[in-house]
Amino acid sequence: MTYKNFTLETDENGFALLTWDSPGKSMNVFDQSVIEELDQIVDAVAGDDAIKGVVVTSGKAGFSAGADLTMLEGMLGEYKKLKEDDEEKAAQLLFDKSRHLSLVFRKLETCGKPWVAAINGVCMGGATELALACHKRIAVDSDAFKMGLPEVKVGLFPGAGGTQRVMRMVSDLQGGMQFLLQGRTLDAKKAKSLKLIDEVAPAKKLVEAAKKALADGVDPVQPWDKKGFKLPSGRIYSPGGMQFWPAANAIYRKETFDNYPGPRGLMHSVVEGLMVPMDLGLQIESRYFANVLQSKEAAAMIRSLFVSMQELNKGARRPADQKENKIKKIGVLGAGFMGAGIAYVTAKAGIKVVLIDREQAAADKGKAHSDDLMSKAVKRGKATEADKEKLLGLIEATTDYDGLADCDLVIEAVFEDREVKREVTEKAEAAMKSRAIYASNTSTLPITSLAQASSRPKNFIGIHFFSPVDKMMLVEVIMGKKTGDKALAMALDYIRAIKKTPIVVNDSRGFYTSRVVMTYIREGIMMLGDGVPAAMIENAGRMAGMPVGPLALADEVALDLAHRITSATRKDMGDKYVVSKLDDILEEMVVKRERFGRKNAKGFYDYEGRNKSLWKGIEDVTGPSKPAEEFDIEELKQRLLAMQALETMRVFEEKCLTDVREADVGSILGFGFAPYTGGTLSYIDGMGTPAFLELCKKFNKKWGDRFKPTRLLRDMAKNDDKFYDRFAPQDAAPMAEAAE
Ligand code: NAD
Repeated sequence: MTYKNFTLETDENGFALLTWDSPGKSMNVFDQSVIEELDQIVDAVAGDDAIKGVVVTSGKAGFSAGADLTMLEGMLGEYKKLKEDDEEKAAQLLFDKSRHLSLVFRKLETCGKPWVAAINGVCMGGATELALACHKRIAVDSDAFKMGLPEVKVGLFPGAGGTQRVMRMVSDLQGGMQFLLQGRTLDAKKAKSLKLIDEVAPAKKLVEAAKKALADGVDPVQPWDKKGFKLPSGRIYSPGGMQFWPAANAIYRKETFDNYPGPRGLMHSVVEGLMVPMDLGLQIESRYFANVLQSKEAAAMIRSLFVSMQELNKGARRPADQKENKIKKIGVLGAGFMGAGIAYVTAKAGIKVVLIDREQAAADKGKAHSDDLMSKAVKRGKATEADKEKLLGLIEATTDYDGLADCDLVIEAVFEDREVKREVTEKAEAAMKSRAIYASNTSTLPITSLAQASSRPKNFIGIHFFSPVDKMMLVEVIMGKKTGDKALAMALDYIRAIKKTPIVVNDSRGFYTSRVVMTYIREGIMMLGDGVPAAMIENAGRMAGMPVGPLALADEVALDLAHRITSATRKDMGDKYVVSKLDDILEEMVVKRERFGRKNAKGFYDYEGRNKSLWKGIEDVTGPSKPAEEFDIEELKQRLLAMQALETMRVFEEKCLTDVREADVGSILGFGFAPYTGGTLSYIDGMGTPAFLELCKKFNKKWGDRFKPTRLLRDMAKNDDKFYDRFAPQDAAPMAEAAE
């Protein structure tokens, strides 16, 4: 029998080697054809007396990246269609289809023959569940080995036996639950200490070690299928269980505010599944999985955090007619906080960097940041001394602009000051190749205006990083009025090389992310002005799914900066500016009390080392707050999210944003907008434009004009339009047109 995705070869000892190597793909993933073939293979192995045991491995550099989630999207589409006619039948179909893989794995582990997984590298999601269903797991001895169940990150949970097997294998309850709930990856050492793998073997001897294990004898019956099986971590209803599970539930609530059906289904599956035999446990897991799959949160998260993110990473917004740039060297101007970070992530990608500052000491200090980060990585065993030396060897710290002569791209990260930026642009362009691209990392100054200092505005673009640069995955690319496609292609090729996710926006004040996140902060301060107790505001933000409360974020961004921005806007807008309590509060905090936020350890919070607590004097500034009972927490949560969603809609309407995927992905990666919603525009789609219109009208009446529905919203609500229908990604306006 031949298979498309697998080869099965049996040796003279009766040990079969099953190699997974899907054609035309750089990585193995589970799709419908893989699942069906594996199903057939398990039957074939079970029915072939010549086969005594199986080693499963991969023909690719890694083992497998897990399931192709577009397969789940397809399943959901079928379910939704059928649901219109027959709800019960549709639910049954979804349940049956979504548990197919789980049943194949169960058949594999009970087929009577021993299976050994020889895991040769990255092993994610469904692949980890395949390995766990095998009777023994041997991992390659390499940094490339990574094992994980990242499903919760896209709104799901491991639904092919992962929850049941992990928790029947580990003796460390907390370690097992953290592995499942956090979706983190494990290296071989950690996976072995959790008992999720049995052995480690060198790459060249991996299959040999697996066959040797078979020759030595591997029990084809899993421990949990034997009579008298006891959970290594103890029963749920036991003194240890009584200590662990109520606390685990409390931590789950504290971390998720119960906004995510995925982790909730996971907790149910584990607790309920561990109290019954394996087959029933798997059935429980499948029921919760099918339930979670139908949730709007899972659909939104799969779309934004898997499908759209992948599309953007692969260059969905890249002009197709531009040749791919192989970037060899870039220049970074300004070796301060941001420039140092940009130099690091670039060198990490193997690209040479010339890092320039005014003084040699400042340039050296910028390079020392890379030394710091790499030294920490070496200490944690994540890199070697040789890696560190290699990376540092790629960064040249200097004051000399001549080093820009052979750069493909130069990124400027000097002071946020027009005059300094103008001077640096002129100096750099004099040293650069005429076809090289020049980018500014400005966070507030419009790119079109900065490009006036350039003699080649077509080659001038914004590449806006977020801090800390090494951790934040998003990069916002800004098109000036005259920016050309060559510059855009270069920016996107660079961002791809450093493995970050790009969004492309047109020029406007605050671009997209800064503009929207400032409305979150503003709404929080406005609430203070309305008499909402500060703690309630902060809790409302976190409960709504934001990573931090708006007042804490205001402190991080710095209150003096917020004050400067509102003052500049007020000056620009003149009579049209609506003065509010926000202005009074900022004025008092910054000018009278010199409370600037985290940076001087005094803001809406008081800071002491790593600890912070809400400042006791807030009411001296805002006036006494009203009793919490006077406010509806649900309304406060909605107010904080709706404000950001409405502002995103405005940015979209002004054609600063032109692609719904970028709005959503940018909002989650850029400022942590409640991920369970799928992002700012998915939040609106999720409730429907008519409901969002009503909400904005209500808030407009109650809280002011900033909630005034826009023309687009009124228009969309008329027909119950959704962003993802009306502005389906391929319809996104071409950049040149939108920039006009
Ligand atoms: P910073 O003050 O830490 O660093 C600026 C560096 O530029 C300093 O090392 C300074 O010596 C150097 N510099 C000034 N004039 C120069 C010149 N003529 N030639 C060469 N070097 C010169 O500032 P930062 O926080 O790194 O910000 C830099 C830029 O990045 C700004 O435009 C800022 O708006 C933007 N930005 C900052 C953040 C952030 O969170 N800090 C985030 C995104 C974007």
